[in-house]
Amino acid sequence: MTPVGYVDRTLTCDGVALADVAAKAGTPCYVYSAATILANYRAYEDALQRTPHTICYAVKANGNLAILRLLAKAGAGFDIVSGGELHRVLKAGGDPAKVVFSGVGKTAEEIDAALAAGIFAFNCESEPELALLAALAQRHGIRARVALRVNPDVDAATHAYISTGSLAHKFGIDIGEAEGVYERAHEHGNLLLEGVSCHIGSQQFDFAPIMQAVDRVLELIARLRAKGFSIRHVDLGGGLGIAYKPDEPAPPIGQFAAALREKVTGKDLHLLLEPGRSIVGDAGVLVTRVLYRKKGGDKEFVVIDAAMNDLIRPALYDAHHEILPLRASPAGCGLRADVVGPVCESADFLAQNRQMAEVFPGDLLAVCTAGAYGFVQASNYNARPRPAEVLIENGSWRVIRSRETLDDLIRGEE
Ligand SMILES: *Cc1c(COP(=O)(O)O)cnc(C)c1O
Repeated sequence: MTPVGYVDRTLTCDGVALADVAAKAGTPCYVYSAATILANYRAYEDALQRTPHTICYAVKANGNLAILRLLAKAGAGFDIVSGGELHRVLKAGGDPAKVVFSGVGKTAEEIDAALAAGIFAFNCESEPELALLAALAQRHGIRARVALRVNPDVDAATHAYISTGSLAHKFGIDIGEAEGVYERAHEHGNLLLEGVSCHIGSQQFDFAPIMQAVDRVLELIARLRAKGFSIRHVDLGGGLGIAYKPDEPAPPIGQFAAALREKVTGKDLHLLLEPGRSIVGDAGVLVTRVLYRKKGGDKEFVVIDAAMNDLIRPALYDAHHEILPLRASPAGCGLRADVVGPVCESADFLAQNRQMAEVFPGDLLAVCTAGAYGFVQASNYNARPRPAEVLIENGSWRVIRSRETLDDLIRGEE
């Protein structure tokens, strides 16, 4: 449910006029709704009430400390993919006992830090990783809980760059080889082989591939148990899609979580989920100012102060983000234009051929549904300071990350 809407002709987020935020925090600037983030989190919790479970928010979707703190206070666990994300979670007061560590390329230093923090489990993706984890756990004098991330070889039917669950992808261990891997890993005395995990891709609208993957994972768990492994938890990853266009049929969180609950009910398994996008995606907008209008042949360009370095999803995934004027125009959508930033790349657009309201230099726009994979993928390309981030909570707003300064850009250089 989007927190963004017009009150009179003014675009607001949770009742706060976005133009007021822009006037004080400047542009470009990300604005998030705490209420929406919590409502999304609670939709998972409510659907899973009677099932033993942990919602491990995928930090990579949006790792701002204030957002992690908000979710930690609500009781969330976290799915991390690096030592940097572990650092963020610990700084934000997250409970390490609810953290799972995913990723194909964990370094020894990262594994060490996670062992020292006492995380819940490692989602391991290869046999050499299992061997390294076992050796490091031995050095710590502890047994590390492991879920093998299996690759169930299903086609997630999403964008190629965010699909991860078929054998052509670098992720996971071929589910057909998993039993052998568990048996060999059993030789390592320092591993608790108690889980199985999978994550087949992101921005999924269709439950069928996920349910097919879950069935394959549950069959594997039955076979492992028959061999004497005491599998206690199943981690079904994240991946639920959200609507980027008003008419997109994104499935409700409750329906998705209930479908997964049905699959594991009665199986004596603790259920872990790793949602990222579906928690924060619709909770954020990127506010930007129009700098110029220009024409190229028949084409109209709206040049704004946000660019691909601030929000790379249109350039990287061909993603669509709705763009709304902060002041609704009574004239309707009379303009067809490319909305582009100042970066020196032809891929620097936030929208192409977009039918939109007539806008003029100085006008403010909101790039919608930008709460996930927005700021976290921002860079300093073209020596552009990264934008400020703002959180709206209980009717007021505050800056939760200052806009970078020019000195920030050269910190650490000679
Ligand atoms: C990216 C990722 C997630 C989160 O995916 P969303 O589509 O944002 O829900 C969860 N688990 C793993 C292992 C991931 O790589």
